[in-house]
Amino acid sequence: MSADTTPEASTDEGPWYKDGLKFKCSQCGNCCSGFEGFVWLNQTEIKEIAEFVGKGIGEFKLDHTKTVGRRISLTEFKNGDCTFFDGATRGCKIYPVRPRQCRTWPFWNSNLESPEAWAEAKQTCPGMDKGSFVPLAEIERQAAIINV
Ligand code: SF4
Repeated sequence: MSADTTPEASTDEGPWYKDGLKFKCSQCGNCCSGFEGFVWLNQTEIKEIAEFVGKGIGEFKLDHTKTVGRRISLTEFKNGDCTFFDGATRGCKIYPVRPRQCRTWPFWNSNLESPEAWAEAKQTCPGMDKGSFVPLAEIERQAAIINV
């Protein structure tokens, strides 16, 4: 692991991940299956995904989303799998139009909060701290896309 992820790495000179982090998705499917969660959608994403799957907005919302307060999230089957998770390939059925929240994993503010938060997320995501080096500027660009 090239990045120093010890708590002592947090200084006034920058965030604890200032030297960058590694990530390469292993396509295990863990993040898309087996648990209930929230994948927030904006109106543009709702329109794009509905079009991609060939459904009207109303039908798409009914089949694939849940309303949480004033926000809309993708929903899951009873077993916790995202309704767009392909169990056979462990892939995403809407990959080209997947939501911002999925595109920016694992560089979410909640994961970047501390080395401990990153380490906790890593327990279920084997791609974290593996593969390609992602520099600070790219981490911050992704973290700014959606606040998760
Ligand atoms: S849990 Fe991590 S490695 Fe597995 S599919 Fe999701 S992002 Fe990729």
